[in-house]
Amino acid sequence: MSRRIGIAGAGFAGAVLAHELAAGGDYSIQIFDERPHVAGNCHTSRDPATGIMLHHYGPHIFNTSREDVWDYVNRYATFGVYTNRVKANTARGMFSMPMNLLTINQFFGKRMGPAQAREFLASVGDASITEPQNFEEQALRFLGRELYENFFYGYTKKQWGVEPTELPASILQRLPVRFNYDDNYYQQRYQGIPVEGYTAIVEKLLDHPAIEVRLGEKLHAKDRGQFDHVFWSGPLDSYFDHELGRLQYRSLVFERFDATGDYQGNPVINYCEESVSWTRIAEHKHFAPWEEHEKTVCFREYSKLAEGADIPYYPLRLQGDKSMLQRYMDLAEKTSGISFVGRLGSYRYLDMHVVIGESLDFARACLASPMSDWPKFSGKPL
Ligand code: UDP
Repeated sequence: MSRRIGIAGAGFAGAVLAHELAAGGDYSIQIFDERPHVAGNCHTSRDPATGIMLHHYGPHIFNTSREDVWDYVNRYATFGVYTNRVKANTARGMFSMPMNLLTINQFFGKRMGPAQAREFLASVGDASITEPQNFEEQALRFLGRELYENFFYGYTKKQWGVEPTELPASILQRLPVRFNYDDNYYQQRYQGIPVEGYTAIVEKLLDHPAIEVRLGEKLHAKDRGQFDHVFWSGPLDSYFDHELGRLQYRSLVFERFDATGDYQGNPVINYCEESVSWTRIAEHKHFAPWEEHEKTVCFREYSKLAEGADIPYYPLRLQGDKSMLQRYMDLAEKTSGISFVGRLGSYRYLDMHVVIGESLDFARACLASPMSDWPKFSGKPL
């Protein structure tokens, strides 16, 4: 008889696992999502009023250097050619983001070449900070106070709700500083956006006779016994009913406004000043430059602490969160028949391609070992 698998959450983490297990073994899989759609926070659909493909939980731009992951997603979608180029609206004007030679030259009113700019940044950076311990120190060390204050301080405070001194340097390290005119936001080998959106990919992944999709239904911890094994891609602490406390997340609020023509001339503009309450504005038709639309739909994006029914997006991972996380990991190790997967299951700041790659690797590991040996986590939470 097929072994019964329950999966909490129909985002990429759960859907890739469901697909791979259904294709590679004898399992009967039920995948639950409390929302009325699959694809989690990657959900996209066409706006009935304008026909524009909307990224309902914020812009998702697929980028990866893993060839197998790129091949995998391309099996289920046609990707449109897209390179993310972001502009930053600052107190000193509009600049190119991530920081590149154009940003540096325009900001300082100079005409430096790569080597000069490298020397210049080294001279404005704070060399007394030998081992940066947090976001702010990392910025001051490598960019200096002026760039830090104009591009990062306000945006980061709005985005994370805490002083940048409380955040890890790794958040800033997500962004490159380039000593050339390359303004591509990402550094990965492949980049694109699926022409028919992400939800269509997840629907295809879940279209298998061994998979039953249960939308608008939550899988509860108490239902664990109905399955031989459960994969939990919801928040780790919610599986345990927050018995050790709540891990903190940032949530996002999107404020839609419509216009005609081209509102801002770019898909994403970041607002770096603390005095502007939103962090960025995304104009969604620009994520599909291969389409033409007369109308335009934009979203102002605000960040807040996730509370009550707010959707968790970014794990905050402050010191207190990390010690609580360790206690939840210990609890998870003692709990049998369950694995925690994806961004929420492991309380990590993960991009789509990392989640897909990890789920692919995890499914392979599961298919190669007896169920009793299936690992507790798809990646290392700490
Ligand atoms: N950041 C900033 N100003 C910007 C863009 C980014 O201060 O104009 C900081 C901010 O703290 C953000 C981090 O850099 O959380 C990493 O940026 P990334 O674009 O990777 O964030 P995401 O797109 O995941 O929200």
